[in-house]
Parts: sequence; structure tokens; C-alpha cells
Amino acid sequence: MLVLNGKEVSKVVRASLIPRVEKFKLSTGRVPHLAVVIVGDDVASHVYVKNKKKACEAVGMTSTIHAHPASITQKELNDLLKKLNADNGVDGILVQLPLPKHLSTDEVLGIISPEKDPDCLTFKSVGYFFAGKPIVSPCTPAGIMSILNHYGISVAGMNAVVVGRSNIVGKPMAHMLMEANATVTLCHSKTKNLSVHTKQADLVVVAAGKAHLLGKEDFKQGAIVIDVGMHGTGQGQKLTGDVRFEELNGWVQAASPVPGGVGPMTITTLLQNTCLLAEKRASQTL
Ligand code: NAP
Repeated sequence: MLVLNGKEVSKVVRASLIPRVEKFKLSTGRVPHLAVVIVGDDVASHVYVKNKKKACEAVGMTSTIHAHPASITQKELNDLLKKLNADNGVDGILVQLPLPKHLSTDEVLGIISPEKDPDCLTFKSVGYFFAGKPIVSPCTPAGIMSILNHYGISVAGMNAVVVGRSNIVGKPMAHMLMEANATVTLCHSKTKNLSVHTKQADLVVVAAGKAHLLGKEDFKQGAIVIDVGMHGTGQGQKLTGDVRFEELNGWVQAASPVPGGVGPMTITTLLQNTCLLAEKRASQTL
């Protein structure tokens, strides 16, 4: 079984970003800049945000963290986002989700400029994406496409099954696979006999958010399995996915592990997208 090593792919992609950042710096006198807005004191969210900043800096980009207490009002948050939209030195704006309950995510996503949306979450960015004219593509599915591409796996003509229909993973994943000429089935919690669908697939992307949901008996021999699930993210916990990876060796053709599969490529794609947005704005192709 080929292990689809997202950590390795991530290293390759990040190395390719360094000269791009240098080139951008030479032509503009500054480096691509990701502004990250975080509200409240959720420990895991603060760790994610710090990791994003570290990742930016490792490829020569810059990242500023705008941390605000949960008491911030919607107007204050909206004003901050408008300020970042107007700041010519900011290329990407990321609001760490979820937000505290009194704040509207929809309102936030209505304000962030699509030209500065590296997560492809704003309604305009999503519209462009599903119209087949992406400004950038959502990080997790785009990262998965990069992994497949790195290993020379073409999905054209494949029967692909995506398990999960969230806005950030399942739906955009199905769309990207379809755009790459796979025949796609999208499954969810109301799907009857999930295994009947996954078993006929050449490629299965599992993003159900249910630990150890699928194993060997759910895949056909020689299939390709991508596990998006992430469980046990707390301190000292063992990270696992939606798939029982240890059952797959000798049965499937290729599979991505957790950890070390999709996760590292999500953050790397965020860097790629921020760099791309910076380049597009600088060359006024946006
Ligand atoms: P989500 O918003 O909770 O969506 C889960 C989806 O899976 C829903 O569409 C749900 O169906 C479906 N589902 C749930 N149980 C199912 C079952 N038993 N059979 C079939 N479908 C089922 O989750 P998400 O944000 O897409 O994330 C999914 C997983 O990926 C989570 O573990 C998350 O932590 C992880 N994740 C990882 C990364 C990464 O970078 N590695 C990035 C994002 C997310 P309904 O629509 O019918 O409810």
C-alpha cells in the first residue's frame, strides 16, 4: 500500500513557496501578509492560529494575529475587518472559526473582501468557486488534490465517493473531483447503506467527523482512501481519523494516514492561497 504522505508533499510545496515569496518581495518591497483574527480564549483555536503564523514565517511570509476578547461586539469586529480590507499591506484575512455565539459568522463572511479570502469562505468566493472560476480553492480539498497530484494519481474517469457534505470539506471536495472529471457520489448521515457506495468507489474521501467509521470491509480492493477526519486534538491525546488505517495495508492501493496526511496540506494550502492572492492583487489580475 502506498502511504500518501501529506507531510512530505507539504515540505515540497512549502519549499516551492520560498522563491515565490522572494520574487514577490523583489517586485513589491514587501512580503505576502496573512492577518488572522481570533476572538475568545479557546485554547485549541489559539494553538491553530500560532501554528499558522509559524508556518507563514517559515516560508518568509508574515502573519499578524488580531486577538480579541469574547466581549468584542459585532460592530467592533466588522470595523476591524473593514480596516483590514482597506489595508493595502494585508493580502489575506482569516477569521478563526467558530466565533462566540453572539457574533454572526454570516455577517463576517459578508464583509471580508473575496480578494483577501484565502480560506474561500466568503459568499462571493464560494460563488466564483462553484461557478468554475475560483479566485482560490478551499484549503482542505485543494490540499487533497495536491496530494493526489504529487503522487501522479489522476482521478479522471474514476468513481469517487465523498463522505460528508460540509461547506468546508465535503461539498467543495465533490466539486473539485467533478471538475477533475471523476464521477462523484456525495454521501452524508442520511445516506442509506453507506458501505454499498464506498465499496464501489475507486477513490473514497472520508470527511464524516466520526472516529474509525470505515475500515477494510468498506473499500474495494485496490481503492484509494483519503482520510480527512481529525479526532483527539486535545493535549496528550493520540490523533486519529475517520478510517481504521491499520486495516488497509495489503488491501487498498493507497491511503492517507492521520496524522501526517491531509492535515499538514490544509495549512500549506492556506499559505499557497495567501501568496496567490498577494500575487494577483499586485499584478491587478483580481
Ligand atoms: P462536519 O461539518 O461535522 O460535517 C460532517 C459531515 O459528515 C456531514 O455532512 C454529515 O452529514 C456527515 N456524516 C456524519 N456522520 C456520518 C455517517 N455516519 N455517515 C455518513 N456521513 C456522515 O465536519 P467537517 O468540518 O466537514 O469535518 C469532518 C472531519 O474532518 C472532522 O473530523 C474534522 O475535524 C476534520 N477536518 C480535518 C481537516 C484537516 O485539515 N485535516 C480540515 C477540516 C476538517 P449531515 O450533513 O447529514 O449531517
